[in-house]
Amino acid sequence: MPTQATAEQERVGVLLPLPLDGPYDYRLARGVPATRGLVVAAPLGPRQSLGVVWDKGQGTVDENKLKTATPLDGRPVLPAGLCDFIDWVARYTLNLPGMVLAMALRSRQAFEAEVPRIGYGRGSTTPARMTPARQRVLALVADGLARSVPQLAEDANVTPSVVRGLIEAGALAEVELPEFTPLPVPEPDFAAPALNTEQGLAAHLLRGAVAGHHFGVSLLDGVTGSGKTETYFEAVAEALCHGRQTLILLPEIALTVQFLDRFAERFGVRPAEWHSDVSQRERRRVWRAVMKGEARVVVGARSALFLPFASLGLIVVDEEHEQAYKQEDGAIYHARDMAVVRGRIENCPVVLASATPSLESYVNAASGRYAHLKLLRRHGAAVLPQVSLIDMRDARGEPGTFLSPPLRQALATTLAAGEQAMLFLNRRGYAPLTLCAACGHKMICRDCSAWLVEHRYRKRLVCHHCGFETGLPQQCPQCGESGTLTACGPGVERVAEEFRSVFPEARVAIASSDTMTGPVETQAAIRAMVKREIDVLIGTQIVAKGHHFPQLTLVGVVDADLGGSDGDLRARERTFQLLHQVAGRAGRAEKPGLVLMQTRNPDDAVMHALASSDRDAFYEQERQFRQATQSPPFGRLAAIILSGHDGEAVRKAGRDLARAAPASRGIKVWGPTPAFYSLLRGQTRERLLVQAERMVDVQAYLRTWLAGVTIARSVRLTVDVDPVSFF
Ligand code: ADP
Ligand code: ZN
Ligand code: ZN
Repeated sequence: MPTQATAEQERVGVLLPLPLDGPYDYRLARGVPATRGLVVAAPLGPRQSLGVVWDKGQGTVDENKLKTATPLDGRPVLPAGLCDFIDWVARYTLNLPGMVLAMALRSRQAFEAEVPRIGYGRGSTTPARMTPARQRVLALVADGLARSVPQLAEDANVTPSVVRGLIEAGALAEVELPEFTPLPVPEPDFAAPALNTEQGLAAHLLRGAVAGHHFGVSLLDGVTGSGKTETYFEAVAEALCHGRQTLILLPEIALTVQFLDRFAERFGVRPAEWHSDVSQRERRRVWRAVMKGEARVVVGARSALFLPFASLGLIVVDEEHEQAYKQEDGAIYHARDMAVVRGRIENCPVVLASATPSLESYVNAASGRYAHLKLLRRHGAAVLPQVSLIDMRDARGEPGTFLSPPLRQALATTLAAGEQAMLFLNRRGYAPLTLCAACGHKMICRDCSAWLVEHRYRKRLVCHHCGFETGLPQQCPQCGESGTLTACGPGVERVAEEFRSVFPEARVAIASSDTMTGPVETQAAIRAMVKREIDVLIGTQIVAKGHHFPQLTLVGVVDADLGGSDGDLRARERTFQLLHQVAGRAGRAEKPGLVLMQTRNPDDAVMHALASSDRDAFYEQERQFRQATQSPPFGRLAAIILSGHDGEAVRKAGRDLARAAPASRGIKVWGPTPAFYSLLRGQTRERLLVQAERMVDVQAYLRTWLAGVTIARSVRLTVDVDPVSFF
């Protein structure tokens, strides 16, 4: 009788890291208690899937069809905080819970049994023949610790054969070592700086919040170079003192390199690292150490938010305004917003740090929902740079040049003084558009409604959206004329070309987020800049963020108007933040900095705020605009993106959806309209936008709406709650 056996085997809902609607019913192996978070192997068709015991089960599967899920070795259990967090994120973002779980189970190997390493410690015999080399090895192991052969050889400064000789002689004995050496523990007082008054006050409040172990959000709002990092490091020190873990989120992997060293200077050792560039093996190590509470501080990209912290005491989101925190593919979510949620679930403080906060955080701080900690001055002798606008309607140089006479003059002065300069242009490649001078034909991508960008160095036209590339044609594909295709506008390569022709002596490097030149080269350029091996760094936004170049005194913004007016709700805010960050790179040490911005709209509010260094005037204006239009954070937005290869099916799905949208108070539905890139990777894209009043439950509305519409299988539907990109 099967009922007899199942009586002691509990039915549970197991969440699988797969695109399913919810947990799937299983029964647990005999005698295993149904603990939420228990990691199991669950049979799924012909294979076994990793899964997590989630709830009591829905009763959807017949008792006699239930399959048995088995706990993994050592019975690992995901912490309750992480399970609750996964549920919350799935509910809020409308991602399938299994897909959110998949982000938490990224390191599948984390659950495999450890493979012990062989090490050697002091053996029972003393060798008959003693040499100085042998003596050094034996002196080393006198501390009672075991080490591997290469480690012994290195630490005792002997050849491995000396070590092997001692093993044969029985003077060293075999010991099993754990697979991973324990992560080093940062020391809270290793090199604590003397804080200035402003920093001290902010640090005191942050330390208090960590010691109190309560949820609360602080906006650490400090001008570039004011010591925000030093200040939140004090909060990290406090968490270390209490034996609790800290998560520090950075917007980009490129920023972690400098950060790890800086952390080590302050705390004696590097923190654990978590992002897509970390090796599988290291991830396995970090994942386990985080779950055991041994990884005290983790620095990572947004995916680190889904780590199984045993006892989280602090979350820091550095450069919190960065758009990179929004994950746009796979499960869509905003890591800054979800960090606040995780903090609430774990009941720990959250610190958001920025010199140019997001308008959302600014409003929350102004209204008192977040504590507002301000650092108004740069640390030490450094003062904020002077920002001047160059009106390109008057100051334009010869046709086809992009560095105006005043900017060239300033570059000459800086180079003559032996100081460093940076030229900023947020455009990769040589030219953003190639146009036929005879017929006006624009070179666009085969699969996207986007211009092909010329990369002259590689002699290619490249689509920055899908990666399609082609050689530069001799003749215009439209009218057949030859020699008429003309590069329009500058990218960083073209600026570098012009710079080299004017300053042939100067040492120059290009840094861009270009996958074509590679992140390694970008890192090399940044390091060369720090070491003063180059005079001028020409770069895209990759150089704008976070980097500290002490000898940099001049920043030239080649085109400050870029991205200013594409109808995107946050375009102005983003332009302001980016240019402010760029400007903040100048004059971070003793020498004062100068920032020159080339613009055709010197009277624009963004330019005005930058030139007059009146940041809050800009925020106030932007706040009023958002309030008047009921835009975030005064209203809610959600986007629905439909895409597919069958353009007609996509458009039909859009019309069907719009027709089925339930009428509801406080909710407007716009669209469907073709997306900005109406063709991307060969797929047609249509968008609908939901605009709701602040108090409306948008998620409930979306769920009801979407449940009532059937969409062709060839059409993919993506929900983006709180969209930040409108492409
Ligand atoms: P922010 O993150 O606000 O831009 P940083 O934390 O990077 O500023 O600090 C800028 C520079 O000033 C860094 O080189 C940092 O080490 C230094 N600094 C800041 N505060 C102190 C302090 N209290 N003592 C010594 N150096 C400091
Ligand atoms: Zn032509
Ligand atoms: Zn393309």
